[in-house]
Amino acid sequence: MAYLITDECTNCDKCVDPCPNEAISEGDDVYIIDPTKCTECVGHYDVPQCADVCPVDSCITDLENIEPEMTLLERAKSLHPDKEIPASDYPTHFKNFEIYRGE
Ligand code: SF4
Ligand code: SF4
Repeated sequence: MAYLITDECTNCDKCVDPCPNEAISEGDDVYIIDPTKCTECVGHYDVPQCADVCPVDSCITDLENIEPEMTLLERAKSLHPDKEIPASDYPTHFKNFEIYRGE
């Protein structure tokens, strides 16, 4: 899982449609991200769309479960077998992976 939704979520629903993988749904208390579908938007966008639209910054990286960019890329290919996803098509923040992790 690359992204998660915090308890600050206000259930506004704004992040659902922008997700290219239909990974976000309503949970018991707040919205949730299906870790088997989240690719951090790799293969589709340069920035995670949920985090981009969330008005309360509830969509954040799960630092306890960082996944390598190639894992996310393979997941994107598997979720979208008909979409052409170049091997280099991952977000800029992964190209600065150490910075991204705060190292
Ligand atoms: S980071 Fe992208 S793929 Fe993951 S839940 Fe957010 S919008 Fe969906
Ligand atoms: S956009 Fe943010 S506040 Fe709205 S449902 Fe998604 S995570 Fe919750």
